[in-house]
Amino acid sequence: MFKVFGRAVLLWILFAGLTPPAGAQTAPQEIKVATRVLPPMVVQQGDTLTGFSIDLWNAISEKLNLKTSYQTAPDVRSLLDQVRTGNAEVGIAAISITAAREAEFDFSQPMLNAGLQIMVRGKAKDGDANPLWDLLSLLFSPTILVWLGIAFLLVLVPAHLVWLLERHHPSGIIPTPNYIPGIFYALFWASSTLATQGEQMPRHWLARVIAILWMFTGVVFVAFYTAQLAATLTVQQIQGGINGPDDLQGKHVATTRGSTAAAALRELRAQVEEVSRIDDAYTALIDKQVDAVVFDSPVLLYYAANTGKGQVHLIGTPFRKEDYGIVFQPNNPLRKRVNNALLALREDGTYQKIHDKWFAVK
Ligand code: GLU
Repeated sequence: MFKVFGRAVLLWILFAGLTPPAGAQTAPQEIKVATRVLPPMVVQQGDTLTGFSIDLWNAISEKLNLKTSYQTAPDVRSLLDQVRTGNAEVGIAAISITAAREAEFDFSQPMLNAGLQIMVRGKAKDGDANPLWDLLSLLFSPTILVWLGIAFLLVLVPAHLVWLLERHHPSGIIPTPNYIPGIFYALFWASSTLATQGEQMPRHWLARVIAILWMFTGVVFVAFYTAQLAATLTVQQIQGGINGPDDLQGKHVATTRGSTAAAALRELRAQVEEVSRIDDAYTALIDKQVDAVVFDSPVLLYYAANTGKGQVHLIGTPFRKEDYGIVFQPNNPLRKRVNNALLALREDGTYQKIHDKWFAVK
C-alpha cells in the first residue's frame, strides 16, 4: 500500500517538474529592461522607444511571452548598474561585450557586430576634391601669408635705397625725384627682382652693388619660399587631419561617458570629452569644439548617413572590433532562453528584417 502511494508521489513530482511553470503560456511574465537612448540602436519617439535593439528585444520577448517595461539610463555605466543591482533583469542598448564586463555579468550571444570608428567634420575627401580650391587654400594658408608679409617688409629696404640713389641719375630707373610716384617704381623694381630677377639695372654704382646683393637675397628667398610651399602642401595632404587612431594623440575627441570608446581614447592619449547623450558629441564636432568623435561604428554610420549627411564623414574602417550583447546578472536562466529566441529570429528571417529596417543603405 505504502509502495503504491510512494510511486504516486514520485510520479506527481516528476510530472510537476516536467510541466511548464503555471501560467507561462497565458499571462505574460513581467520583466524590467534597462536601456538607453542611442540612435539607431534605441530611438526615442515621443513616449515610446524604438530602434534596432528595441525591435529586437520586442521580438525576443514576444517569443518568450514576456511583458517588458523599459527604464532608460543616462549612460552605459548606469545601465550596467541597474542590472548589477537587480533594478532591471536585462540590459539592452549598444552594450559592447568586453572582458571586464564578462567577468561581472553574463552576456547573450552577440546581437550585432560593431567596433570603434573615427568621425570628423566635412565631406569625405575623395570624389569631390576641388583642385582650384586646394590651390587657393594653399596660396592663402597662414604660413604662406606670413612669408609674403616678410617679403613685403624686406622689399622696403632696397626700394628706399635705390630710390634715394637713383632719383637724380639722368638715365636711372626712377624717372622722377619725388617720393610719390618715385617709390612705386623702386618698389616694383625691388619686388620683381626678388621674385624673378627683373630686367632693369640701376645706373648709380652703389645702387648696382645693392642690386647685386638684392638679387642674391632673391635667390635665397625663392628657394625658401618654394620649400615652404612644398612643406605646406605635404602637411595638408598627408597629415592635414586625422587619418587613423594614431593621429588622435593630444586631439580633443568627444565620446560617451563610461564607454569602451572613452577607455580606448585614453589609451591613445587623446583629450577625451565625455558626454551623456551622443547627440552632444555630434554638436561639439560640428561646432568645432572637438576635432573628432570616436564611437561605435553602427551609431556613427547612421548619423553620417542621416542627420549629419554632408557635414561629417567617417575615417577608414573600425579600428577595434566589438560585438553588442544583451546583459544579465550571472547565472540568470533567462539568458539561455533569450539565446534560443535570438537564434530562432536569425533563422526565421525576423532578425534580418529588423536589421534592414535600421541599417539598410537608402
Ligand atoms: N558600445 C558602447 C559601450 O558599451 C556604448 C556606450 C554607450 O552606450 O554610450 O561601451
